[in-house]
Amino acid sequence: MTRSAVIATALAMNSSGINAGTAGNVSMRTGEGMLITPSGVPYEQLTDSDVVAMALDTTWEASNDRRPSSEWRFHLDVYRHRPEVNAVVHAHPVNVTGLAVHGRGIGPFHYMVAVAGGVDIRCAPYATFGTQELSDHVLAALEGRRACLMAHHGLLAVGVSLDAALALAIEVEVLAGQLLAALTIGEPPELSTEQMNEVLTKMQVAGYGSEPGARQ
Ligand code: 13P
Ligand code: ZN
Repeated sequence: MTRSAVIATALAMNSSGINAGTAGNVSMRTGEGMLITPSGVPYEQLTDSDVVAMALDTTWEASNDRRPSSEWRFHLDVYRHRPEVNAVVHAHPVNVTGLAVHGRGIGPFHYMVAVAGGVDIRCAPYATFGTQELSDHVLAALEGRRACLMAHHGLLAVGVSLDAALALAIEVEVLAGQLLAALTIGEPPELSTEQMNEVLTKMQVAGYGSEPGARQ
């Protein structure tokens, strides 16, 4: 059930258009640690036993000679440091990555930026995939947020559930496309911190994103 939910989310990540091929990875919290997609296996080929169970102490068990996603470090670090998070989605969306290669995050050009929990969505500095350095950068960029861009790489979104993390990943890719469109005629004006805080408060009251939005 939980394993099939991880596979279904990975498949939905690709069919939604925010990711392609074996890029990206998906995990969910369990009582002992997490369930995570295996490294480098096409999502259409996955069966429940291909999903890797990894404990918080990094020991893991898998059948079919599968290895955990190369990005297991940032998935596990999110669960260690963010008790409210139950799911992590990592993807390489075209528009997000277009911004991230410039090291550019998403400022408050649109009120929906607040859906990630704050007044902006940061871009984590570049580090080689699968490294502790990348995990450290991602954790810092996620501070008080539910999503971040990753320089020269892609996107990370977290949530209280797999559905929430995937929905946020899709929303951030939409925002990135809107920002790129706005940038074609110049640097877009941004909402003020006061305007964004009003949106954050309104989203909290409405339960938008189902977690309290952390402010700057
Ligand atoms: P994995 O197939 O090992 O999960 O790697 C995909 C990826 O996106 C690495 O950043
Ligand atoms: Zn990646």
